[in-house]
Amino acid sequence: MLSLRAQKIKPSPTLAIDSRAKAMKASGIDVINFGVGEPDFDTPENIKEAACKAIKDGFTKYTAVGGIDPLKDAIIGKFERDQDLSYKREEIIVSCGAKHSLYNIAQALYGPGDEVIIPSPYWVSYPDQVLLNDATPVFVKTYEADSFMIRPEALEACITKNTKALILNSPSNPTGMLYDRETLAKIAELAVRHDFYVVSDEIYEKLVYDSYSHVSIASLGAEIKDRTLVVNGLSKSHAMTGWRLGYTAGPADVIKAMTNIQSQSTSNPSSITQKAAVEALNGPQDFIGVMLAEFDKRRKFVVAELNTVPGITCVMPNGAFYAFPNTSEVYGSRFGTKEINSSADLALYFLDEARIALVHGDAFGDDNYLRISYATNIEDIRRGLDRIRQAVQNLAR
Ligand SMILES: *Cc1c(COP(=O)(O)O)cnc(C)c1O
Repeated sequence: MLSLRAQKIKPSPTLAIDSRAKAMKASGIDVINFGVGEPDFDTPENIKEAACKAIKDGFTKYTAVGGIDPLKDAIIGKFERDQDLSYKREEIIVSCGAKHSLYNIAQALYGPGDEVIIPSPYWVSYPDQVLLNDATPVFVKTYEADSFMIRPEALEACITKNTKALILNSPSNPTGMLYDRETLAKIAELAVRHDFYVVSDEIYEKLVYDSYSHVSIASLGAEIKDRTLVVNGLSKSHAMTGWRLGYTAGPADVIKAMTNIQSQSTSNPSSITQKAAVEALNGPQDFIGVMLAEFDKRRKFVVAELNTVPGITCVMPNGAFYAFPNTSEVYGSRFGTKEINSSADLALYFLDEARIALVHGDAFGDDNYLRISYATNIEDIRRGLDRIRQAVQNLAR
């Protein structure tokens, strides 16, 4: 008999769709994968070289659990440069990916009786990480008309004496939207007044378009900084998903608890990856601009194309590499005997009949949408969108 904890958890739906698409591809089916949550770019050469050097130098042993000092210092430098935030080494922990950082936070902060507020649509792992720690996720719906930012009055309405934390993700996976400074200031005021933590997942910080800029809620004053755990990593900014490195900055007591927890589970992140990460953070950053310019072209193309498909509308995302089209008008249609009544029905229809893999909005807590990752080459994007248009045209109303 499995533990109650294990019974409460479902596998990550985004990884499940990705592996199904990869399996179809491996068996010779020409499936176009819009399901991926990782850049299609390769890790920059200078970072790879730093890793090779670490191996040749024999930097292949256990390190300090929470990361080597040169990496913590590089992270501190990054926060100073990018957000004008200053942290000490004891306020930083390096983990095996930002997902692991978030998991350590969950273990350190959430427990039975605690409520953790999660704006929806949300990234798939947030609710399950709360459940894994026997706490209760409290979902607050956000709306396209508000750029999917939580309304401060809606947030205030669900705060109780049991509220332990709020999880923010800006820019957002899956919506691609960004919080503005005014809304963050109102959220910060509530967090300080009601004394709860803000977990700020800033993994897409570097992927912001046009004249928008990323604001970290921790930068809005000393009181909110003391209650914020900023999570970031290299997976998205430096195309390093497979290297597994994420980090957290926050109050020293929480960071210490996370380090203790990590010392009993994974120990340090890979010594080689840590050396590569120092280079990623301290070395040249022009790679990011190149990647961003390419994502920007795809973003505009995908959104313009989606808006020409009858029954689908899509707002322009300001960050990350996802489009989040509203497909609710397509629901109620049929393909042969198959009825399309939900995002899951539509995603399955696209996979079976159009060989397009994408993630149904329901997985993120909003059934009116689908998530399309445009972190794939423009040729596939072109072909994929043609297939989507054709597939929607083949539906009977
Ligand atoms: C990709 C992603 C992460 C996890 O990144 P890793 O560092 O690879 O673990 C965390 N949060 C969001 C919202 C993501 O999309």
